[in-house]
Amino acid sequence: MNQKQNSLRTRCVHCDFPLRVCICKHICQIESNIKVFILQHPSEANVAKNTAKLVNLTLTSAQVIVGETPADFAAVIASIQPEYTYLIYPGEAAISVETFSPSTMPAPKCLIFLDGTWKKTYRLMQSNPWLSSLKQISFSKAPKTRYQIRKAHREDSLSTIEAVAYSLQQLEKISPLPFMKILDAMIETQMAFMPEEVKKRYSS
Ligand SMILES: [Zn+2]
Repeated sequence: MNQKQNSLRTRCVHCDFPLRVCICKHICQIESNIKVFILQHPSEANVAKNTAKLVNLTLTSAQVIVGETPADFAAVIASIQPEYTYLIYPGEAAISVETFSPSTMPAPKCLIFLDGTWKKTYRLMQSNPWLSSLKQISFSKAPKTRYQIRKAHREDSLSTIEAVAYSLQQLEKISPLPFMKILDAMIETQMAFMPEEVKKRYSS
């Protein structure tokens, strides 16, 4: 391995980005009363564009768990109170986050997000019946994603960090800015490594 490759592979121990594009200075840690679990399909864990780790760096009450089966998520299952736990998922019976009212439903103490492509999150749902027993929350007028790079994978859906930010903004009046700031930093980092013609495609 030559020196250039080596500097690309040396990672920041905190943010895990290559050292020369370390995004630590963009991290502004925040807390929420709501516990956030992000269940991550293993195929997503090593994707450079994955935003779940950015949530982990920003939100102190967030935890990312990589897995596929109920056994992988045993610690989550044991720690949640189903009555106060909501799955963020666009199911038919989902309650819209914009109109959620604690006067009609128990206020959430825990939110569960599924991280992966639609196909992978669907598979997570199939192999984890305990998830289907949870009440669901969905978005009816979510903001447009600013993360164009993943558009091919996720159509118009939000990246995981945007989904977390939007949910906490709606449910707990938490400012989405710290999340957007670190997402922008990651997008900028990735743009810097892109060839010019690809960059043009994303900058309109
Ligand atoms: Zn760093």
